[in-house]
Amino acid sequence: MGRGNLLEIIFLGAGGGRWETIYQNKGTGGFRVHTEKTKLHIDPGPGSLVRMKDLNINPFDTNILFVSHCHPDHYTDAEVIVEAMTLGMTKKRGYIVSNISVLEGFGKYERAISKYHQSKSKEVHILNPRESINILDVKLMGTKTKHGDPFGIGLRINTDYGDIGYTGDTERIDSLSEDFNGVRIFVANVIGGANKRIRGHLCSNDLIDVINDMGEKPELLIINHMGLKMTNIKGECEYISQNSGVKTIAAKIGLKILLNRDSYNILYL
Ligand SMILES: [Zn+2]
Repeated sequence: MGRGNLLEIIFLGAGGGRWETIYQNKGTGGFRVHTEKTKLHIDPGPGSLVRMKDLNINPFDTNILFVSHCHPDHYTDAEVIVEAMTLGMTKKRGYIVSNISVLEGFGKYERAISKYHQSKSKEVHILNPRESINILDVKLMGTKTKHGDPFGIGLRINTDYGDIGYTGDTERIDSLSEDFNGVRIFVANVIGGANKRIRGHLCSNDLIDVINDMGEKPELLIINHMGLKMTNIKGECEYISQNSGVKTIAAKIGLKILLNRDSYNILYL
């Protein structure tokens, strides 16, 4: 990657859980990671395409789709992203990386990306925790979760600018501190505030514990996938920041992080 280029992270939503997804106050479009070669869309839930339109992001400019697990706030727009990625299904193009529930179905979870859509992408990969795959200029590693979808994964993205971590949906498990140790930017799905623990999800206190168990803490923590009842967002960020020692901000539609090798900038589109 040439000098002067940056890695960009752009949020198309900050909400999650079924109530927030219905109300769409915070949005559920997932987020994007752009490097020189990689245009990665992570967890395109409801509204992804609409948010991209609003923020002037070209959906055709997508070459990797990642879906962490088989819940609609993470997958509803996945097939449309595949349609964009394949230039309207006219080219065999792009990579799909996800888990077995999303790609093949498992028990009550039906396949969330049709065989037809999968057949048009260049490669389809089932990623299990601790497995990794090199695509374009990034390495993607699956991380462990404990959530409704037993095959749910998080993601650690290794780039020329250091690592970006994404918890996916999970409750607190010991492996999180290890899987995300040393990431520069850590996106954590936190459905509830301090001690508002919901099974299968992190609350603010869980996240503080995860961070404090890391040998090397992140430079920046971004809380994401906030539930309907998470209303004092600024207060939660301050609480997490004070108790973890890591600068904490909240995801928001249009939040853009510009990351270079030794610093980052926070912008709002
Ligand atoms: Zn979920």
